[in-house]
Amino acid sequence: MDKFKLMEEHNYEQLCFFQDKGTGLKAITCIHNTVLGPSLGGTRFWNYATEDEAVVDVLRLARGMTYKSALAGLPLGGGKSVIIGDPYELRKDPIKREAFWRAFGRYIEGLSGRYITAEDVGTHTQDMVYVNMETNHVVGLPGRSGDPSPFTALGTYKSMLACAKHVYGDADLKGKTVAVQGVGNVGYYLCELLHKDGANIIISDVNEERIKQCVDEFGVEVVGINDIYSVDCDIYAPCALGATINDDTIPALKCRIVCGGANNQLKVAKVHGKALQDRKIIYAPDFLTNAGGVINVSYELAEGGYNQEASLRDIDRIYHRMLDILRISEETGQLTFETADQMAEERIAAVRDIKSILTRR
Ligand code: NAD
Repeated sequence: MDKFKLMEEHNYEQLCFFQDKGTGLKAITCIHNTVLGPSLGGTRFWNYATEDEAVVDVLRLARGMTYKSALAGLPLGGGKSVIIGDPYELRKDPIKREAFWRAFGRYIEGLSGRYITAEDVGTHTQDMVYVNMETNHVVGLPGRSGDPSPFTALGTYKSMLACAKHVYGDADLKGKTVAVQGVGNVGYYLCELLHKDGANIIISDVNEERIKQCVDEFGVEVVGINDIYSVDCDIYAPCALGATINDDTIPALKCRIVCGGANNQLKVAKVHGKALQDRKIIYAPDFLTNAGGVINVSYELAEGGYNQEASLRDIDRIYHRMLDILRISEETGQLTFETADQMAEERIAAVRDIKSILTRR
């Protein structure tokens, strides 16, 4: 694998490898872009089959964070870490677990604040507490901004309201049918908001306990995991897996809107974004829709400490940003995610320009 070639392709700033033989820690951090501010992104702990697979994942995820934070208007760049291994094995040994995460914390400290970490798939708040024993460049700590999922769900809901306004002329989900795929952390809180609004909810999940909770609390209808794509609904909300918008599922969709919290919903962005547009289905770009969590966690870095009111105001803005994107893409014929990409890139370019003011001749 030619790593420099991969980095040049999307202008990545830095790719760092770290190992600690004693604890077995093998970590890779990618800093994609720090023009808008220090890079921020969670640490994914995953049993990658190969080192190359981990590198490709960290590069893709770090770049995604640059766009997510840029579009959300945050003073942050994009970065991400991956750890190669089995998080469940590590949790069985509390002494090793502390040492492992403190070793990771020392490594993050060595990046001098160019990268700020947080929890992600396979990591736990307690792991971040250990990281924090060695560095302050970590967010999502207990007693501060807390679990990001309700905020991610809230942002997703705001994005959905904007899509409803664009398609039906009214930012109202009462009586609309929403098919929620995955009622884990984000999907559950989204159902709660939809239920309050009087929407009809159809769900699918592989976790029976989660399903029961949603049936009991919100009176949802349940369908099989492969049936969620073809149910009669107004909105399909992917809140579980990536790449569920693909050649197999697009022909089955009966919705007018795709808007959910999952990352990387389009299997091949250009191909499947275009296929949705051809079917006149509105696609809410995922990295804007699910930015509520990163917006909330970023407020831990604000002067004076975490401020939930300010965070909620910022999450509210997802509504207007989504409306802008839908309007522009309708006027230009651009795919919605391309419009969103362009807005993020324009912001980065403008700030890059002002950063050279004092060195310009
Ligand atoms: P989670 O693991 O809590 O929930 C995922 C749910 O999907 C689980 O209940 C799981 O049983 C279910 N699921 C798994 N396979 C399924 C299938 N084939 N069909 C239906 N359901 C299935 O994860 P989460 O934190 O809720 O995140 C959900 C998605 O949102 C992920 O793509 C994640 O990357 C993205 N996301 C989450 C956050 C956040 O704040 N948690 C922020 C941004 C993006």
